[in-house]
Amino acid sequence: MKEKNSQLIGFTCAYTPMALIDAAGFTPYRILPTGEWPDQAGRLLHDNLCPHIKRVLDRALDNDLPDLFGMVFINSCDAMRRLADAWKSIRPGDNVILMDLPATAEKIDVSFYAGEISRFWDTLNTWRGAKVGPEQISESIIKYNHLALLLKDTEEKIRQGNLPGGSPRMQEIYNRASTESADRTIAYLKDIEEQDYDPADKATDGVPVFIFGNMLPDPDVYTLFEDSGVHVAGNDFCTGSRLFSSVEVDEEQDIFLNISHRILSHPPCARTFKPSSPAWIAEDVLAKAKACDAKGVIGHIMKFCDPYLARIPMIRKALQKEGIPMLIIEGDCTTRSIGQQKTRIEAFIEMLR
Ligand code: SF4
Repeated sequence: MKEKNSQLIGFTCAYTPMALIDAAGFTPYRILPTGEWPDQAGRLLHDNLCPHIKRVLDRALDNDLPDLFGMVFINSCDAMRRLADAWKSIRPGDNVILMDLPATAEKIDVSFYAGEISRFWDTLNTWRGAKVGPEQISESIIKYNHLALLLKDTEEKIRQGNLPGGSPRMQEIYNRASTESADRTIAYLKDIEEQDYDPADKATDGVPVFIFGNMLPDPDVYTLFEDSGVHVAGNDFCTGSRLFSSVEVDEEQDIFLNISHRILSHPPCARTFKPSSPAWIAEDVLAKAKACDAKGVIGHIMKFCDPYLARIPMIRKALQKEGIPMLIIEGDCTTRSIGQQKTRIEAFIEMLR
């Protein structure tokens, strides 16, 4: 274990138990694939690899990171595992843990991941140099549940077009919530709640669209969407609404099982399977699009992400049945790559009007 001054634990995936990091007295810090750096990751990893992984590695290679106490990686796919390997070679001084993630949310998998979460908790305690009591975990879960609730309220404002700053601001809030302490973000969201809303700020002319995919963390991309006539009525990204959901604290059940069950069951991304319902993702996108009264759906898929690309046909079919058009754009985490699709987005919106 390496001694560090920082209180930040870096993470890269929404399957990370953020409340546990908080409970151990650290702050979870998501390393977002935002910003512009020289493309250097290709010297360590294959060029045809998920751009998310490469951008995160580029940030590390360019020293564009705050001081970190440690890093937690989730073995959610092979690319993520490669990232963990590359990280150890370029930052040998970091405390690092890799957690294995099951592919489904069956009972046996929930139990397996609970074991991984327990191992993570022990590691955090070792890093902290003190044994923190389990009651602290419950307190942090309650705190993160409160944060999830406040974010849901803010998402509702976005749906109604009542959040000044619109979807770029909402994304800034998500990014803040994943890189700052929960206490600070809660205080910030309460401030927003108390602010008087000026109806003149209401966004009215955009067409309501539901957007989904792996991740889309750059607020500038949302500005581009809005400039193209999109009103982002709802989203499902692991850098957005999917990162924050509440955990029910069942006093009778083991706390790690509680957390594991919640993380694995709701709301998953395409890399998680449901053997009893292979088309779950199509039903999920359809239900969410309908819930926010979307006239259309835009899917933003990371290049080379097979789990998402493989599921697009079933999602398209489910939406077609309900008469909801869908546009798919492939990106590489840069605003530039989405900017190249602006004409397609504008044409899609014109069709929906
Ligand atoms: S898309 Fe899924 S596996 Fe990939 S980083 Fe996000 S939550 Fe993790």
